[in-house]
Amino acid sequence: MNIEQFYPLFLQSNKVTIDSRKVGKNDIFFAFSGESFNAATLAEKSIDAGALAVIVEQVEFENTDKNIFYVPSTLDFLQQLAVHHRNHLKIPVIGLTGSNGKTTTKELIHAALSSVFNVQYTYGNLNNHIGVPLTLLSIKPEHEMAVIEMGANHQKEIELLCTLAQPDFGYITNFGKAHLEGFGGFEGVIKGKSELYDYLKVNHRTILVNENDPIQTEKTANYEPKITFGKDTSDYNFESFSKEHFVGLRYQGREILTHLTGEYNFTNLCAAVSLGLHFGIDFEKIKNAVENYTPTNMRSQVEKREDKTLVLDTYNANPSSMAASLNNFITFEGQKTIIIGDMLELGEESEKEHKEILNLSHSLGFEEIITVGKYFKAAGSSELSFETTAELIEYLKTHTIHSENVLLKASRGIALEKAADFI
Ligand code: ATP
Ligand code: MG
Repeated sequence: MNIEQFYPLFLQSNKVTIDSRKVGKNDIFFAFSGESFNAATLAEKSIDAGALAVIVEQVEFENTDKNIFYVPSTLDFLQQLAVHHRNHLKIPVIGLTGSNGKTTTKELIHAALSSVFNVQYTYGNLNNHIGVPLTLLSIKPEHEMAVIEMGANHQKEIELLCTLAQPDFGYITNFGKAHLEGFGGFEGVIKGKSELYDYLKVNHRTILVNENDPIQTEKTANYEPKITFGKDTSDYNFESFSKEHFVGLRYQGREILTHLTGEYNFTNLCAAVSLGLHFGIDFEKIKNAVENYTPTNMRSQVEKREDKTLVLDTYNANPSSMAASLNNFITFEGQKTIIIGDMLELGEESEKEHKEILNLSHSLGFEEIITVGKYFKAAGSSELSFETTAELIEYLKTHTIHSENVLLKASRGIALEKAADFI
């Protein structure tokens, strides 16, 4: 079965899924290994559930259904189908990568562009070698644009995702200290993320540049086409302001106030507004759309309670986003407690980075510092520290945090959000 023969079937399908529990009428189900041990059962179940086609690898079994297809690699077939589909699309595709802020920026861009266009975009955080093809395959004829998040934790990953998504526009949110282990240090991060620029340059596509970021500026110097923001001389020059910890943007005397906290979200917002304006959308429309966007995804989320303000930033953490988050939180008025959890995947740099974050926390002068995880425990001395979120929860059951403001931030693996209800 080759892709060209299969493509007409795909075009008739409702959706593509890799989750056998989500298969519905007219869907295409890709059975990935791990599930392939019982591929026969899953394939038949999917057909019973109304699947239009099922793609399985390796396991051959007696089957009479013409809609079960065997391929050497489910992953390759999924990726090739996505490329084939992408090649047929005539809409602008915007690709995003960066160490921090991809999802937030993607959501903001989607909000801004959706005020006028029908925009498909990455669901949640499906930003890898499987998520990107699935997003591409979810683009339907009615869509007028697409925003694709591309994540990476090692070299050549963005290069691959670019060959799949073939972005017409690209933006790197920032270069930060994330996934240092896989990338081989900070220089490795710059190289790995810049694979997006490499793709855009070779193919003469448009780069969106934050001219306040020296690395972005240097990497795109003398390159055209690009869209720029950040400086007086940029295409778009925005001023930042904040109101009750929420980030805002001013442009030619008009304002947008978001529901996002953290100064770092200003550049995420700038990227979204720049693209909106670039595509000819009225500022007022962009404003309405972006002001209506409220994060519910544990990223820079502010929760106001009767006696407390909680900042929930527990979706993820690395040294750059942790420092940004702490520097933002210190500006909150009143007493402040920080509950910070380990930053994972830092490799050799781990010990040093955890020490640096503790030093920063002390120098900023928070009233109370609580840590969760073995790295912070090993790096610290004077703080209250717990090995796990479960231990922290036990403590919180019998102790009250008195500060009016509490920040929770940690890597995904720490699942620190579970402690929120006990504060
Ligand atoms: P992931 O790698 O998990 O997909 P991401 O790049 O999609 O992450 P977000 O989920 O949008 O990033 O944000 C994660 C956290 O990064 C935020 O909660 C915030 O603390 C921090 N952050 C967001 N934007 C920036 C930025 N521009 N610069 C630095 N830190 C940021
Ligand atoms: Mg993300």
